[in-house]
Amino acid sequence: MPKQTKYVLSERDIPEKWYNITADMPNKPLPPLHPATHEPIGPEALAPLFPMELIKQEVTSETWVEIPEEVREIYKLWRPTPLYRAHRLEKALDTPAKIYYKYEGVSPAGSHKPNTAVPQAYYNKQEGVKRITTETGAGQWGSALAFACNVFDMACEIYMVKISYEQKPYRKLMMNTWGADVYPSPSDRTNAGRQILAQDPDSPGSLGIAISEAVEMAAMDPETKYSLGSVLNHVLLHQTVIGQEAIKQMEMAGDFPDIVIAPFGGGSNFAGISFPFLRYKLTEGKKLRAIAVEPTSCPKLTRGVFRYDFGDTIGMTPLLPMYTLGHTFVPAKIHAGGLRYHGAGAIVSQLLRDGIIEAQAVDQIDTFEAGLLFARAEGIIPAPEANHGIAAAIHEAMRAKEEGTSKTILFNLCGHGHFDMASYEAYFSGRLQRHEMSQEEIDAAVALIDTPAIPA
Ligand SMILES: *Cc1c(COP(=O)(O)O)cnc(C)c1O
Repeated sequence: MPKQTKYVLSERDIPEKWYNITADMPNKPLPPLHPATHEPIGPEALAPLFPMELIKQEVTSETWVEIPEEVREIYKLWRPTPLYRAHRLEKALDTPAKIYYKYEGVSPAGSHKPNTAVPQAYYNKQEGVKRITTETGAGQWGSALAFACNVFDMACEIYMVKISYEQKPYRKLMMNTWGADVYPSPSDRTNAGRQILAQDPDSPGSLGIAISEAVEMAAMDPETKYSLGSVLNHVLLHQTVIGQEAIKQMEMAGDFPDIVIAPFGGGSNFAGISFPFLRYKLTEGKKLRAIAVEPTSCPKLTRGVFRYDFGDTIGMTPLLPMYTLGHTFVPAKIHAGGLRYHGAGAIVSQLLRDGIIEAQAVDQIDTFEAGLLFARAEGIIPAPEANHGIAAAIHEAMRAKEEGTSKTILFNLCGHGHFDMASYEAYFSGRLQRHEMSQEEIDAAVALIDTPAIPA
């Protein structure tokens, strides 16, 4: 029988600061631009949507940002999260590689998302906000924010992509359980929603449309603000608790990763696990590969373009410098709902452009194969998003075997799949299909980007 090794930290080890990688980056991310004038925007342009403290964190050049004691107190509900050595998976693969994973599925919402939902709700509460709006696709972000708003006794209004609203009733009920109001998007509650419904009454919705609705509701009411679960700098910042804990746990194991891997939607869980490790690469020249893993059906990092683009479909958000497939791009309905976003965050995009991180794309069939192998070896049933990271970790472990080298691989198991069993069912029944975008489809999507080009 292989050993069972779990590296457990105590409450004292919950980080006291978040790590801001921009302080150590050789090239800083380009500034956001005003959607109409295309001039760089100042913090005040974001004030209708976000509390001041989060705007400060969005643009800070400090290396470390203090985590408020109240936030650390709530983190104690599920942090520090465990880190495991995947002995049984290693054995199943018969690989000389050492595989470790950090498990974020132990949070109340079942993913890494509460790591940022809690501080975001906290700063809003501090600044007198009464209600937070947001969008959710698969429902993971919506449930994390519903949980966090409930902790601080605030109202939470969630625009859920209509097709997910219909297909994932349990995620919606989870949000309702924590007291949030959930509306299928596009809805008739907003101009954005009504505009889309006028064009297509049967619109299945998209993350971009739901963002437009949530942003519009927040912009209209001074006591309401908007909250985003990925992409933005402050969201990535909050997630760095994951990697900081993992560094301590790898120390307990007497190891340091050669490769850090995470699935990639907008970049938050990838940033969370990898940025604290990348600090050693940026400041001490330590060798480390950080690999972001996306679906072949939404390949913005591996096949998109580096451009200024909107965060939403209608074009209401500031323009952000990002690897993107275009803000009107609607990805195929793959089962990893959390990875169906058209763009990447500014920090991660700059790191990729500078060759500091890498990206890979994996087909959904291969991700479920990997997830199943993992579940049967390690016991935990991963979220379909997490399966992307697992597939890449297995691929690297098999490569180490071929090369006859020992590699230390760490990946982020960002969430459990207990609310995603229907997608496993689709895999078991053979209904899941391979899906890779053709070059014509990529070219057509990218040709629709009508925003300023970025000089090389
Ligand atoms: C939201 C989500 C993702 C994708 O978002 P990132 O910001 O890229 O982390 C991946 N996995 C899970 C479990 C999620 O909930």
